[in-house]
Amino acid sequence: MPSALHKIANPTATSVLTIDLGALRTNYRALRDRSKSAECAAVIKANAYGIDAEHAVRALSKEDCKTFFVATLAEALTVRESAPDAAIYVLDGFFAGSGPEFAEARIRPVLSSLAEVKDWAAFCKDQRNSLPAAIQLDTGMNRLGLPVSEVEILINSPDILKSFTPVLLMSHLACGDEQENPMNEKQLKAFEGMRAKFPPCPASLANSAGIFLGERYHFDLTRPGFALYGGRAVNGQPALDPIVQLHARITQIHEAPAGEAVGYGAERILTRQTRIATLSLGYADGIFRCLGARDGKPGLNGFIEGHSAPVLGRISMDLITLDVTDLPPGLAERGSWVEILGEHASVDDLAIQAGTIGYEVLTSLGHRAQRIYIDSDTGTA
Ligand SMILES: *Cc1c(COP(=O)(O)O)cnc(C)c1O
Repeated sequence: MPSALHKIANPTATSVLTIDLGALRTNYRALRDRSKSAECAAVIKANAYGIDAEHAVRALSKEDCKTFFVATLAEALTVRESAPDAAIYVLDGFFAGSGPEFAEARIRPVLSSLAEVKDWAAFCKDQRNSLPAAIQLDTGMNRLGLPVSEVEILINSPDILKSFTPVLLMSHLACGDEQENPMNEKQLKAFEGMRAKFPPCPASLANSAGIFLGERYHFDLTRPGFALYGGRAVNGQPALDPIVQLHARITQIHEAPAGEAVGYGAERILTRQTRIATLSLGYADGIFRCLGARDGKPGLNGFIEGHSAPVLGRISMDLITLDVTDLPPGLAERGSWVEILGEHASVDDLAIQAGTIGYEVLTSLGHRAQRIYIDSDTGTA
C-alpha cells in the first residue's frame, strides 16, 4: 500500500519488496491440512524462491515444519544455521569429496543415480557410519532419478544398501499442474511399482501441485514450494495467499507532445500529449525486458491506488516509463510509489504477460529492492 510505504520505506529506497511471512505461515498450514496424514515439508531452494531462506525457515519452524529441501549443499549449510534440528535434503545430490560437509552438518543428499548411491555408500563405509539419505526414482521425467534398470541392480546389491540408511524414496511429477494429464497417473503407478521393490521406506511424490491431485499422491511426505509462496500451483485454480509485493518510486514526471519517442530504440511514438512517469526499476530488478510495450502489444501495468498506468516503450536495466496521463491529479508525482506486484497484479499475472511461469518471476526479483518483512498474522512489520 503506497501510503503505508511512505512510513516504512527507507528514504533512500527506490523499490521495496514486501514479504508477508504471516501469509507464508498461513499457506503452510493450508498445505499441511491438505496433505492430510502425510508430513508436509517445505521446499526452500533458490533462497526460498527468492524471498530469503533464513526468514522462510524461521517462519515455517514456528508452524513446526521439520523437513526442508534445498537444491545445493551451500544452501543447506546456510539453512542449517536457522534450523538446527530439522531434516535438510539436498535435491541436486552428492559428489564424492563433499561427504564430510554433508556429515558434519547432518545434511541428507537426495541420491539420484546408481553412481551417486555408490559414492554415498562408499563414504559411509569409510566413515563406518550408516548415514541417512533419500533415493530418487525416475518415474518418467528423465531428469534425475534411478531408472528401473538401476533400481534392479541396487536392490540386488545388499552391500551397497546396508552401508547407508535410506530414509526416503522419492520421485517428482512432470505435469502436476495439469490435473487431467495422464502423465500423473502414469508416474504414480511407476512410483508404486518401483517402491515395492525396496524394503519398506517412507515415500514422497507430491510437489505443490501434487498435493492437489489427492491423497493417493501424498504418501508419507509432501514437498510444496511454489504454493507456499503464493503461486498458482494448479492451472485454472486460485492460488493461496500472495506473499510478495513490489513497489517502485517515481523518480521524475514530465510531459511530452504527440510525435515524440520514448525510451531505447525510439520505437514508441506518442500519439497524444502524454504525462510520463519514470520509475526506478528495470530488468536488473527482475522485471523482464519482454514486459515492455512494443509492436502495438501492451506491456505491464503499474498501479497507483488501484489506477492503472501502462508501460511506454522498452524496459531499461534500471528504469521503466509509464503513461500516467489518465490518472486522477495528485496520484502520480515525483516520489509516489507504484505497485508492480501486489493487490492488482500477481506473480502469476506478470508471468503470463511475460510468457513465463511465476517461479521465474519470484526467483528473479533481484537484490536491489529494500526488503521489508511483515507478518499479517500478528500485524508486525
Ligand atoms: C522444486 C521441487 C519441488 C517443489 O515444487 P513446487 O512446484 O514449487 O511445489 C518439489 N520436489 C522437487 C524434487 C523439486 O525439485
